[in-house]
Amino acid sequence: MPEEFGRGYLYLHFRSMALVVQKFGGTSVADADRIRNVARRIVGTAQAGNGVVAVVSAMGRGTDELVALAREVSDRSHPRELDMLLTAGERVTMALVAMAIQDLGVEATSLTGSQAGILTTGRHGQAEILEIKADRVREGLAEGKVVIVAGFQGVDPSSKDVTTLGRGGSDATAVALAAALSADRCEIYTDVDGVYTADPRLVDVAARIQELSYEEMLELASAGAGVLMPRSVEFGRRFSIPIHVRSSFHDGVGTWVKEETMEQAIVRGIAHDVSAAKVTVYRVPDTPGVAATVFEPLAVAGVNVDMIVQNVSHDGTTDISFTVPEESLDSATAIAKEVAHKIGAGGVTVDTEIAKVTVVGIGMKTESGVAARMFRILADHGINIEMISTSPIRISCVVRGDKVGEAVKALHTGLGLDREADS
Ligand code: ADP
Ligand code: ASP
Ligand code: MG
Repeated sequence: MPEEFGRGYLYLHFRSMALVVQKFGGTSVADADRIRNVARRIVGTAQAGNGVVAVVSAMGRGTDELVALAREVSDRSHPRELDMLLTAGERVTMALVAMAIQDLGVEATSLTGSQAGILTTGRHGQAEILEIKADRVREGLAEGKVVIVAGFQGVDPSSKDVTTLGRGGSDATAVALAAALSADRCEIYTDVDGVYTADPRLVDVAARIQELSYEEMLELASAGAGVLMPRSVEFGRRFSIPIHVRSSFHDGVGTWVKEETMEQAIVRGIAHDVSAAKVTVYRVPDTPGVAATVFEPLAVAGVNVDMIVQNVSHDGTTDISFTVPEESLDSATAIAKEVAHKIGAGGVTVDTEIAKVTVVGIGMKTESGVAARMFRILADHGINIEMISTSPIRISCVVRGDKVGEAVKALHTGLGLDREADS
């Protein structure tokens, strides 16, 4: 039982039926027709004898539009007010979906993240779920209602302020709620048919993956496969919630993300990420402690450093390069400059024209040689590798940003992932 999420399982008393958590992303609720379509799907699931909790995202590109509007009004950051603003996006959808369900003759009630008891840290824009009380969700279910929960948001219990969970956060809301409610399944409805061997918008011969492990999905999601937010996969893994990623436009089977898979693919998929930037502190004195001096203040500032490369030169200095997410670039650069000055380094350069391409497969744990194949394929296409990092089931390379499309396609073909012409 997910103890930190659970608070009494009294509602189980009311639960002779299966409980399904369904999440609908922005494209799936982009306009009135789609909202009615989503309502019909939810009602269908409820009328088949299931309890249903639906988690919804802001309509279409609603969150992007609100972010842009905030920037037009002010170029300063206002974390608390930005969260107040952004949570409104999901709130619009939840009410509309509830109305559409009621119009189909089924009782439905909508709840904000705060009303649903989603308690988070106070870190605006990047809050983490600490606990889900879900009392009102259980009450609604016990009264036979469909409960709609606004995704991507929660409340900090100490300040009572609303928070958001980071972009894509409705996925995390859905899987965490599924864990808190001990749901029988969690379905993520989106604008693609499932998780593909590469982003289907980039690679038209990408194939839908039938099933993959949490571990693989976590690596793909963290490497830029935007179809699931990494934190949602972590919840799935921690609480053993199988996640079914599927299309909101038809009934076909999608992709199951779960503990174990039948086949242990050597290469399951390829992800890419163009959002990272590279910071280099150059001509750093090559003495013990310099790496700690560079990375400690970055850690304190909460900068999520990804890849690190250190090149030693012959004159007793070294260049330290690392990649950071776009949103941390300004603070990382400022910190790096300060540190460079303090330790007598040559200075700091920033490169935003990089991209990362990542190959993932659980079979890499036992099968060697994938890295060599990856490097050869990139070399044959004249693509220079600037940084490399690996885990037991992943290999990532940083390349020039304008080469990433070619790199993904070449690796997809070269590593044998292209979909058969007739499938
Ligand atoms: P939603 O609004 O439903 O949450 P997202 O836009 O967040 O949808 O995620 C779906 C998108 O993820 C797809 O349209 C696709 O372009 C992108 N994507 C990236 N990598 C993959 C992948 N490996 N498999 C499927 N979709 C992917
Ligand atoms: N609406 C939020 C976003 O666009 C959350 C989500 O869609 O998952 O990031
Ligand atoms: Mg999403």
